[in-house]
Amino acid sequence: MKKTLIVGNWKMHLNTQQASLLVRRLGERVPQHRDIETVLAPSMLTLQPISLEVDRRKFRLAAQNANAQDLGSLTGEVSFAMLSGLVHYGIIGHSERRKYFAETNKDVRAKVAAAVRNEITPIICVGETRVERTNHETKQVVREQVVTALRDLTGPEAAEVVIAYEPVWAIGAGRPASAAAITEVVAYIRLIIEGQFGKNVADAVRILYGGSVEPDFVANILSIDGVDGFLVGGASLNYQQFADIVTKAHQLAAAKEQHA
Ligand code: PEP
Repeated sequence: MKKTLIVGNWKMHLNTQQASLLVRRLGERVPQHRDIETVLAPSMLTLQPISLEVDRRKFRLAAQNANAQDLGSLTGEVSFAMLSGLVHYGIIGHSERRKYFAETNKDVRAKVAAAVRNEITPIICVGETRVERTNHETKQVVREQVVTALRDLTGPEAAEVVIAYEPVWAIGAGRPASAAAITEVVAYIRLIIEGQFGKNVADAVRILYGGSVEPDFVANILSIDGVDGFLVGGASLNYQQFADIVTKAHQLAAAKEQHA
């Protein structure tokens, strides 16, 4: 059985001291679970100090972004090559990067290839805006995002990636997308991957949901067929809420195992 994957994206929040405090508080509240993989994505600045103090049996680390080139004259940038060994995961193509930093599907493709080349597992964010949903373009948009992102990978490499379905209109909205909407798009993403790489790869890929995840919504969303975990924004900055999300996911996984 796949472990439930829960990723906390701290975005551009928390200085070094605040990040360290949050890690300590989470460490006190989150035990090591066999069935849950918990990942923290601090800012680039705090990744290194956090890596030295985090309990690696409980938490893995993710970068929120990195450059697609391994090295070069690119002032201010950090590459996946530099992050190799420091992080397990790299978040790629978050809607905020697409919106505020003009990242295209082509950029995402290059970053996915760079992450894989440097032994970092990509967490590829896909999802439609409200306008695209209203215009019935969700499937077309998500298809283009997924197909392009995975284009440079072999089947075994694609099987390892994580896709985060994050409807842009549900991010920070206070209410997640409906179960029906999540079910439809997650199933569609697996269908796309099946078309690209075959059924075994499609089944192996982990698909997360992201968008206003809070403890109260955990059970409902994790019961959706094909959802393997969460990408959490706002609630990951609150140690009680994030620890609650992990606990609820663990309770659900334990109950499922009992019934299996
Ligand atoms: C996000 O930005 O990826 C996200 C899911 O944020 P939130 O949980 O705050 O909606």
